Amino acid sequence: MAQRRLDLLLFHAYYLVNDPHEQEIMRPFPPLGLQYLVAWLKREGISAVDWMDATFQDGPDDFFERCMVDSPRVVGLYGHTVTRPIAEKMVARCRAEGRRVIAGGPDPAQYIDEYLDAGVEVIVIGEGERTLTALMQHLKANRWRWNYDALVDIPGIVFRHRGERVRTPPRPLIRPLDQIPWPERRRADLQHYFQVWQKRHGETAMSMVTSRGCPYHCSWCSKQVYGDTFRRRSTHDVIDELEAIRTTFDPDQIWFADDLFTINRGWVKRFCREMIRRRSTIPFYVIARPETLTPEVCTDLAAAGCYRVYVSAESGAQHILDAMRKNDRVEDILSAGVNLRCAGIELGVFVMIGYPGESREDLDATLTMLHTLQPEVTLLSVAHPMKGTTFYDEIVDRVLPTPASDGSGRLRFEMDYPRPYYDVAQRMIWAETGLVRKLRRREYDLEMAALAVKAPLYRAATRALAIPARRSREDQR
Ligand code: SF4
Repeated sequence: MAQRRLDLLLFHAYYLVNDPHEQEIMRPFPPLGLQYLVAWLKREGISAVDWMDATFQDGPDDFFERCMVDSPRVVGLYGHTVTRPIAEKMVARCRAEGRRVIAGGPDPAQYIDEYLDAGVEVIVIGEGERTLTALMQHLKANRWRWNYDALVDIPGIVFRHRGERVRTPPRPLIRPLDQIPWPERRRADLQHYFQVWQKRHGETAMSMVTSRGCPYHCSWCSKQVYGDTFRRRSTHDVIDELEAIRTTFDPDQIWFADDLFTINRGWVKRFCREMIRRRSTIPFYVIARPETLTPEVCTDLAAAGCYRVYVSAESGAQHILDAMRKNDRVEDILSAGVNLRCAGIELGVFVMIGYPGESREDLDATLTMLHTLQPEVTLLSVAHPMKGTTFYDEIVDRVLPTPASDGSGRLRFEMDYPRPYYDVAQRMIWAETGLVRKLRRREYDLEMAALAVKAPLYRAATRALAIPARRSREDQR
């Protein structure tokens, strides 16, 4: 029997081998966004559609082999900062093979000309389900060619026609979220994910989301796809999906990949009560804003199975939190830590160093915060601007012409101190927090001795390197 040709192959050019940060923490999950798109398209009658997972592959060869086998008429690329360098090359080859190419996700919306120049024909702006369905129906109706007279009537896209960029009006968001079918998970190479998780963490995990969007305005955060609104699924739809996942795949734990799991106390309470009533409790972890982690919320979460909460702390210096427009107070971060501990929940914290205005003393304030919180996990990053964010707009004159050389595509900017300062500052934080952890656990071993030697050396090095890298704007005038 002849192989059925695919109408659409969705692809995310994310390769774990190119991501040293993820390799450190090793908590990979199949891309939920593509799985949501496939589920939606199939329900809308576009059945010859599939997605391909690059996470454990070495490079694009597997993708092109898959294209040879399934000969997709259309390729849909999910674009993210870290995938842009590879995605742009893949687009050229797809076009040379005669395929239509559509791109979506956070990155193409900010780098429209770069993606269009690379050969992408249409960029989806914002939520993808309805727009991609409309584009596929359009192509099918027009013998897999673009009809530009009709294309202008599809909301939520950007394309070029006769050399002019055309942007159609934004598409309204999907409401309520419960109408979106659950992600198409069966195609994922789940066993590979499970093996990786087992090897590193001794158990398996899967991810879910209960919401889309965020109404906050942290300066460095890009919210290109779902915007500033917050929509949430009903608790019963979430728990129905959770039970289906357990029945079908039986993971040991769940990550709720929401940006703001605890934003609505009433929802959290209903969710936790329902989990207990339906005997659906399972170990899970979430991300939360600190001020939402009241004693009551923490107790409810623990009762439903939550074993760890990641808190976006970022800095121990209040003026840096204010500059980031975090709308958070250091006291709230510390209280969140206490409330989680009292409820028996582990604490993970996100910390960002190198935000403009952060002094050497501010770094000490962050360390003091970490020593007080004593988190089980610290996820450390160095500030980098993304187009489309307030942070980028504020320092646009300091953005360097070439991106980071680690292949991540991340923009670099002229930081307050020389680059080596931030490398050493990260080492100092690792050494000092590691040392404190060892002392707390009374692990008096060689590793502890090494940390005890390194920590003061790194501390001294940061002091020596804390020389302003640029003159103030006033000086330059
Ligand atoms: S960092 Fe989190 S809370 Fe802040 S804007 Fe982004 S998603 Fe919202």
